[in-house]
Amino acid sequence: MNHKDHIRFLKRAIEVSRESREHGNTPFGAILVDGEGNILMEQGNVEITENICTGHAETTLAARASHKYTKDFLWNCTLYTTAEPCAMCAGAIYWANIGNVVYGMTERQLLSMTGSNEINPTFDLPCRNVFSCGQKEIQVTGPIDEVVEEAAKIHEGYWD
Ligand SMILES: [Zn+2]
Repeated sequence: MNHKDHIRFLKRAIEVSRESREHGNTPFGAILVDGEGNILMEQGNVEITENICTGHAETTLAARASHKYTKDFLWNCTLYTTAEPCAMCAGAIYWANIGNVVYGMTERQLLSMTGSNEINPTFDLPCRNVFSCGQKEIQVTGPIDEVVEEAAKIHEGYWD
């Protein structure tokens, strides 16, 4: 995938994050793309409507993907997410063996928006730091400047 592809897929993930908010969940979205550029799965946050504390978009997507695909297959897939994966989601991506991650805005930027909101008391921990302590060379790309504003816009007014 090249930079243009990254922008295109992140824009789709942003749409998923918008739908997540519209459906009563936090404004996060993730999609899974295979090595040929096909979108295999889309996932919004489900924490609130399903009352599950681990219901982040990326963790839920990684779990679903692991039910459906082999680890070898997932190693060549890419998870696109509107905001940088948190520590839990980075862990889920690691365990699912998804080999590539592309994110829109950094977790630190997200933290600047959520503050200490109890729904999402955001970490300040780059996902690269989590992956660097593991045993796999997961490729991380982000932030993607061209989509940062659009990704952040979906959060407007949500955490106030
Ligand atoms: Zn997370």
